[in-house]
Amino acid sequence: MNGINTDIKPNWCPGCGNLGLWAAFKMAAEKEGWDNSNSVLVAGIGCHGHLLNFTPITSFEGLHGRALPVAEGIKFANHGLNVFIFTGDGDCLGEGGNHLIHACRRNHNLTVILHDNGLYALTTGQTSPATPAGAVTKSTPQGNPDLPFLPVNLAIASGATFVARAYAGEIDKVSDLMIQANQHQGMSVLDILQPCATFNKAFTHQFYQENTYWLGDDYNCHDKGWALAKSAEFGKKQIALGVIYEEDRATAESHFSQLNKGPLIQQASKPRDLSSLISRYC
Ligand code: SF4
Repeated sequence: MNGINTDIKPNWCPGCGNLGLWAAFKMAAEKEGWDNSNSVLVAGIGCHGHLLNFTPITSFEGLHGRALPVAEGIKFANHGLNVFIFTGDGDCLGEGGNHLIHACRRNHNLTVILHDNGLYALTTGQTSPATPAGAVTKSTPQGNPDLPFLPVNLAIASGATFVARAYAGEIDKVSDLMIQANQHQGMSVLDILQPCATFNKAFTHQFYQENTYWLGDDYNCHDKGWALAKSAEFGKKQIALGVIYEEDRATAESHFSQLNKGPLIQQASKPRDLSSLISRYC
């Protein structure tokens, strides 16, 4: 192990936006001291999930779309932990869409980092719930007939209390937002625009560099009406980055008096030998 790196090298494609996002998380982890003693990472299924293999913090890779309920359980068991959920747009908005909206509604004190590449990349480029209408993909050769979800808009409308968007190529800014999201008490959703260099030829690094802008000081992220209007914009020269919505509201965990005395479960994270378990399935 070398700092926050492991000996395992990333297997993402050259130019993949996941590389920038991973670098941003490592930078934030080093700055904030996130490690095995205080943090847990959870992922779903997709290219994003590989991040767990390259990051030496205790982690759990859930079933497709099921990262959030696992993370909610971890947080209830030990609410002293920083719990980060890495998920893709297919994983989070498709298979896991129900979990996302209800986690936002209940305001769990969690940080969702959405690797938004606009399609299913691990399965080689099918339409996801974030694929624009009309887009030609492997699964929609005549063009996508459906309207997409805009994750920021969906998260705000569902009740998330810290919602932001950034582009994976701006590593410092993504890293800062990860820290802010974790410091926020409540459900944080970061929509990270993450180019898939192999399968998405529309949402490229160049596209995001040309069509995103950072919200200025005149923007009020506490105005929900403004935030909903701003988050509904997504197109050429129209993609706002930064904290789009923030509010203070009681978290899901705060409603349980059993948690007032401290975490229900506190145990040191230690390596386990799973070879005998694994051998039963080989
Ligand atoms: Fe990244 Fe796309 Fe390659 Fe997956 S397929 S590793 S998202 S570039």
